[in-house]
Amino acid sequence: RAPGLAVVLVGNDLASEIYVSSKVRTCIELGMRSEEIRMPDTATTAEVLAQVDALNRDPGIDGILVQMPLPKQVDSRAVLLAIDPSKDVDGFHPFNVGNLVGNIPGPRPCTPAGVMELLKRYGIGLKGKRAVVVGRSDIVGKPMAMLLMHEHATVTICHSRTADLAGECRRAEILVAAIGRTAMIEAEHIAEGAVVIDVGINRVTDREEAMRLTGGNAARMAGFDKRGSIVVGDVHPVAMAERASAYTPVPGGVGPLTIAMLMSNTVESAERRLG
Ligand code: NDP
Repeated sequence: RAPGLAVVLVGNDLASEIYVSSKVRTCIELGMRSEEIRMPDTATTAEVLAQVDALNRDPGIDGILVQMPLPKQVDSRAVLLAIDPSKDVDGFHPFNVGNLVGNIPGPRPCTPAGVMELLKRYGIGLKGKRAVVVGRSDIVGKPMAMLLMHEHATVTICHSRTADLAGECRRAEILVAAIGRTAMIEAEHIAEGAVVIDVGINRVTDREEAMRLTGGNAARMAGFDKRGSIVVGDVHPVAMAERASAYTPVPGGVGPLTIAMLMSNTVESAERRLG
């Protein structure tokens, strides 16, 4: 049978709707079964837990994804813990976090897993390399650092209290930015020839700022004039293009890999569950 992914969307957050519909569309394109479960923004913790429980018991479902953020009355932690770890295709359940730390097979969080896939496909070796990850979130920064360490990079994790961020970043042969701040990483943070991975997704609506960030790039500014905004990462696009030996553009770099890895995790889950 085809692998099955269930996506639970609670409420009507616009960004979440876009993410969920592209996940469902990709499932359909791949010939996978996808189930989209929509719940109203008034849903209670008990109602969401009941839905997760039903999906845990559905033998045709191999992956369960509860789209975050959940409305504030819903206990996100309880929901996360309720997902059967063997169907946790986001890799966020503490059981799978343990698998990640122990380098034991299991689903890995999709965004950092996508970064690893990119590095592998482009033949960028990690053994003995100095890698710096800016950001220590549970969904990107921390798992990213673990995955790089398991591939034998020497990893430094930076965050908002890091004393000399530019100095730490400049030491990086592989620099990963997962901060959530528009173009915060500039030329002074990037060593000449570094590999730069920009995970950030930030929307810029100010035309002058867009001009400055794109260096007046005609194609990108045409996009701005059409849509009234552009998406920029956590790394200054011009500085990145000038200093890096290889880098991931935003949009189009890391983003598409996140969905691809979600699909990959679902297929692997189906294979594991079917023996
Ligand atoms: P979080 O807000 O959870 O974490 C941000 C991290 O950046 C924190 O660890 C924070 O440090 C650190 N940080 C914030 N400000 C600074 C600063 N001035 N200097 C140094 N470190 C700082 O974000 P996420 O990890 O969820 O996401 C990061 C980015 O990646 C966002 O732009 C998000 O949109 C994007 N993203 C992209 C995905 C994709 O598919 N491409 C998927 C998921 C996220 P501290 O811990 O000290 O607060």
